[in-house]
Amino acid sequence: MSTTQAGWLPADIEPPEKGTTMTTNTRAAEPGPSAYLAASLAPTPRNIASAAEAIAKITATGWEPLSGYPGSDVLWRVRCLLCGWEGDRFFSHLRRGRPVFRHPGCLPADQRAEKLAEITQRLKPSCTCVFAHPLTREDARQVLDALAEARRLGDGPGLLICLARLLGPCPAAAARSQAVQAAQTLES
Ligand SMILES: [Zn+2]
Ligand SMILES: [Zn+2]
Repeated sequence: MSTTQAGWLPADIEPPEKGTTMTTNTRAAEPGPSAYLAASLAPTPRNIASAAEAIAKITATGWEPLSGYPGSDVLWRVRCLLCGWEGDRFFSHLRRGRPVFRHPGCLPADQRAEKLAEITQRLKPSCTCVFAHPLTREDARQVLDALAEARRLGDGPGLLICLARLLGPCPAAAARSQAVQAAQTLES
């Protein structure tokens, strides 16, 4: 009688490798570089530094970016953390941080300060994210160098990881922004 292979499991199915999943908090399942920096801006250290600063500033005033930083005077998709409203705003307007006008239909002005205090309490001087963000000049420099190398090699996934570390959501976005500003002037 001939032997049979019936009962063998298909050998061509491999389980997913452990530890390869990258979580970037509330981002879409498969973000591209434009989730962090608009496609119109090249991921140069200078643009990354501008974006990190903008993200830190709007984070501190109760806004969450819903798309990559597009530049100061281009409409940016954001969410108001005071009330959940989503829409387009110019960073050049947001950075003035005037609580007088946020967007149509936000909380009444007299309730905003309390809500904003509640939100900013969650911000921290240190990164507690599973996916660590650089908070020192040296660490930020390393990530900027890795990003430059990924660009040179056309390494898409590598580029994305660097962008997520430099510009992804982080409760220590302010400290990270300072690290990136400092790193930008450091020789690699
Ligand atoms: Zn609002
Ligand atoms: Zn973090």
